[in-house]
Amino acid sequence: MSNKLFLLPGDGIGPEIMDEVKKIIEWMNANLDAISFEIDEGKVGGSAYDAHGAAISEEDMEKAMTADAVLFGAVGGPKWADVPYEVRPEAGLLRLRKDLGLFANLRPALCYPALADASSLKKELVEGLDILIVRELTGGVYFGEPKEITDLPDGQKRAVDTQLYTTSEIERITRVAFDLAKTRSNRVSSAEKHNVMKSGVLWKEVVTRIGAEEYKNTPLEHVLADNCAMQLVRNPKQYDVIVCDNLFGDILSDVAAMLTGSLGMLPSASLGAPDAASGKRKALYEPVHGSAPDIAGTGAANPIAMVASFGMALRYSFGLIKEAEMVDAAISNVLDKGLRTRDIATEGANVVTTSEMGDAIIAEL
Ligand code: ATP
Ligand code: MG
Repeated sequence: MSNKLFLLPGDGIGPEIMDEVKKIIEWMNANLDAISFEIDEGKVGGSAYDAHGAAISEEDMEKAMTADAVLFGAVGGPKWADVPYEVRPEAGLLRLRKDLGLFANLRPALCYPALADASSLKKELVEGLDILIVRELTGGVYFGEPKEITDLPDGQKRAVDTQLYTTSEIERITRVAFDLAKTRSNRVSSAEKHNVMKSGVLWKEVVTRIGAEEYKNTPLEHVLADNCAMQLVRNPKQYDVIVCDNLFGDILSDVAAMLTGSLGMLPSASLGAPDAASGKRKALYEPVHGSAPDIAGTGAANPIAMVASFGMALRYSFGLIKEAEMVDAAISNVLDKGLRTRDIATEGANVVTTSEMGDAIIAEL
């Protein structure tokens, strides 16, 4: 098995939560026969700017391109508020997404039993929740041209964004969603608005065709994106995999995220196209939260989103399903035992630091 992991801890709490993943990788290397990861580490964001004057160096970009998976912490913070726009911390992540061709963003919303009370919904609506939102990440209205603000003769302005999708862009994200559904509860829901958008008409047509031609055994449902948002807060457990465009995916994944509680709990994966020779996809795994400069260095950061992102790497980049399930179970168990970082602590909880949480997860493994 090729097994190169490239770590980009980044800024703020990024290095603190990545340290916990490093401990887990070292533990797995020493204790699990199936696993021998080679790890290398680089800089991204403000820390890369301080070291090289760029949001990521060319050398580290090259390492990211040749790794089997990239683990990314978080970037940014007030220290770099005034650096030039092209080298701002976020530019590092955008460059990685673009050069690795990461067009599929996977955002699971999983409710750990011990945290069901922390949801914005009633406990019974979220207990056992396990949905996956597959968002198209490189097309749609965020990137379509024309994209401009022009002056009108009467002194008003006119703003234009273009929602643009081609058949092949929709086909490839559809295949990612169906392939993932087959490893889960085997249901796909496609969210668009074909009733008012031409891109929605094409989206629905392409998803329907790919489903019928290539995934006959996976039930497919079409849902209008606004209705999908409503259903997510009414009865989220009806969904397994939801596939949608860039804009709707941005919104629906944030809705789904809050069903499960804290920002510090949410992992994500971004995948590229399969390599023609090896079939392997380029991939980057990162927590949904940012660099949390307000708590950096205090030991209050919750490492679970970063650890769960590593769990997604085990599953999706290395096919280590059993080991990925071990990580998920370890997280669930430490929560069951009442351990909480400050962000998820309730009255009377056993509040632990970032590294104590990491150690507890390793003890469960
Ligand atoms: P970005 O623009 O980089 O996404 P943001 O402004 O959305 O950043 P975050 O950095 O995600 O914000 O932080 C939002 C709030 O959530 C902060 O108060 C932060 O301390 C808290 N937070 C974020 N991640 C964690 C974590 N892993 N553990 C504990 N608290 C967190
Ligand atoms: Mg944010």
